[in-house]
Amino acid sequence: MIEITNLQKTFGELEVLKNISLNIMDHEIYGLVGKSGAGKSTLLRCINGLETYSAGKLLVNGIEIKGLNKKELRLYRKNIGMIFQDFPMLSRKTVYENIAYPMKCWKYGKDDIEKRVKELAGIVGITDKLEQKPDTLSGGQKQRAAIARALSMNPEILLSDEATSALDPVTTKSILDLLKDINEKLGITIIMVTHQMEVVRSVCQKVSLLENGKIVESGDVQELFLKQPEAFRRFLGNEE
Ligand code: ADP
Ligand code: MG
Repeated sequence: MIEITNLQKTFGELEVLKNISLNIMDHEIYGLVGKSGAGKSTLLRCINGLETYSAGKLLVNGIEIKGLNKKELRLYRKNIGMIFQDFPMLSRKTVYENIAYPMKCWKYGKDDIEKRVKELAGIVGITDKLEQKPDTLSGGQKQRAAIARALSMNPEILLSDEATSALDPVTTKSILDLLKDINEKLGITIIMVTHQMEVVRSVCQKVSLLENGKIVESGDVQELFLKQPEAFRRFLGNEE
């Protein structure tokens, strides 16, 4: 589904992504792990079309992202949901309005929006929170609302950038379980960016380890934990 070949990204003199190559299959949960500054978020932003790349190829469903015009890019981005560490929400609007927001932008009808918001709230388990303001929710509930909003346009791909990094271990587990559930039930492909190998271990099937903008290890999660190749062991040893 996602084919990345020799992808490079520079900011001025700084090479942030160096010859990144990886393939992500339909319905997979794929982990991108590495220390802060390794280039994980930049890679996600390239996949999301928020950032252009300097060289290489990035194909999603066979289409090169770089070649898209503005209108095509907008349609492409509709097919991708994204969640973040700090679950940004519109604070003056209710949870309902936050989840409805993308559909409003795409000019969906009121009844369709209502049906979809309620369905999504049910999936993520916040049906009783819809009329509240985001600030009155716990971190886990806010992330659930953010997940519902990210799924509102029925995307094929969900990008998760450190989505559980601000949460305590118990809440982290519940959000990871929810993402696993969404992957299984809705068949959504998920790319999980994290600096925590435990997150990878508990939900991802495949993983790539990034170090200074390069992939230093890639493979099946179970196998990597068994074999513990050098770069993988080095990362585990330095994890905070
Ligand atoms: P990670 O998500 O793995 O922590 P990032 O992708 O955020 O890493 O950043 C990788 C490197 O790229 C860092 O050195 C960061 O300072 C740099 N970087 C990221 N975005 C920009 C930007 N817009 N302009 C200049 N440098 C950037
Ligand atoms: Mg990051």
